[in-house]
Amino acid sequence: KAKKSGRNHFEVYHKELDGNGEIIVLENYLRKAIERQEFVLYYQPQMDIKTKKIYAVEALLRWNQPDIGFISPLQFIPLAEETGLIIPISEWVLKQACQDLKILHQFDQQLKMGINISAVHFQQGDFVKKVSMITEKMNVHPRSIKLELTESTVMPNARQSIDKLVKLKQLGFKIAIDDFGTGFSSLSYLHKFPIDILKIDQSFIRNLSKYEGDAAIVTAIITMAHSLHLRVVAEGVETQKQYQFLEKQQCDFVQGYYVSKPMPLEELQVFLCEWNTYINT
Ligand code: C2E
Ligand code: CA
Ligand code: CA
Ligand code: CA
Repeated sequence: KAKKSGRNHFEVYHKELDGNGEIIVLENYLRKAIERQEFVLYYQPQMDIKTKKIYAVEALLRWNQPDIGFISPLQFIPLAEETGLIIPISEWVLKQACQDLKILHQFDQQLKMGINISAVHFQQGDFVKKVSMITEKMNVHPRSIKLELTESTVMPNARQSIDKLVKLKQLGFKIAIDDFGTGFSSLSYLHKFPIDILKIDQSFIRNLSKYEGDAAIVTAIITMAHSLHLRVVAEGVETQKQYQFLEKQQCDFVQGYYVSKPMPLEELQVFLCEWNTYINT
C-alpha cells in the first residue's frame, strides 16, 4: 500500500485506487498530519517596489506525507475544508507563522506576515476571537499580521463579513483581498469592505505581454485601487519585463519567482540578511 516518496507518486497512487478510496486514505493521513508534524510553512517575500525592501512574507503551507511525498495545498485544502480538519490545520498555521515571525523580527521589526484564511475558517462564528487569542498568546501584535482572504470568502454574507473585518481592523490586523480579479465583484462594491491591500491574481500577470487586455486590466486595477487608498501587490511576477511594467504602473509590491520562490524559515533568514546587505550598499 505504502508508496515511496517523490513528487510524481501522488498521481500514480491516485489512479490505482478506485471510487472514493483515495479520498478516504488521504483523509486518514490528513487527520494524523498535525500530530505527526508533517506540515511545514514555506515563506515567500513580497518586495516594496519603491524602497526595494522586503515588506512582508506570505506563509504557504506544505504537507510532506512520508508515504506519498509533498502534497500541494491545492490538493489537500479542499479536503480539509470538507472534513472540518481545516480548523485545527489553520490554527496550527497561525501559531507557527507567529512563532516564526518573532524570529524574523530580529532581522526586521517592520516585517509583516501574510496568512491565507480559508472561507470555512473565516465563516466560523468565533473566528475573530480565535485569531486574536492566538496572536495574543503568541505575543505578536496584530499589526504585523496580514490576513489574505479571497473575494469568494467575503462576498457571501457580505454584512457579516464586513462586521468581522471591521473588528479585525480595530484590533490592528491588515486585510488583503487575494486572487483579485478572478471573482466578479467590482472595486466599487469591494470598497465597502474595510481592506488595506489588493493582490492582483497571477493569471493577469502571466499574460501581461501576451494579451493587451490583461495589461489594461492590471493598469485599471492599480489606478482604481490607489484612488480608493488601497495598496496593490502583484502576484506571480517571474520576469524582469513584468516587473518593469508593474514599476511603471506604480504598483506597490511584487511577489513571485522574480524576487524569490517560497522557502523554509532557515533559508529565509539567510535570504533576508543578504537582501538587506545588498540594498544598503
Ligand atoms: P495563493 O494564496 O494564491 O498563493 C500563491 C501561490 O502561487 C503559491 O502556491 C505560490 O507558491 C505560487 N507562486 C508564487 N510565486 C509564483 C510565480 O512567480 N510563478 C508561479 N507560477 N507560481 C508562483 P502554493 O504554495 O502551491 O499555494 C497554492 C494555494 O494554496 C495558495 O494560493 C492558497 O490559496 C492555498 N494555501 C497555501 N497555504 C495555505 C494556508 O496556510 N491556508 C490556506 N487556507 N490556504 C493555503
Ligand atoms: Ca495568498
Ligand atoms: Ca493569490
Ligand atoms: Ca490562488
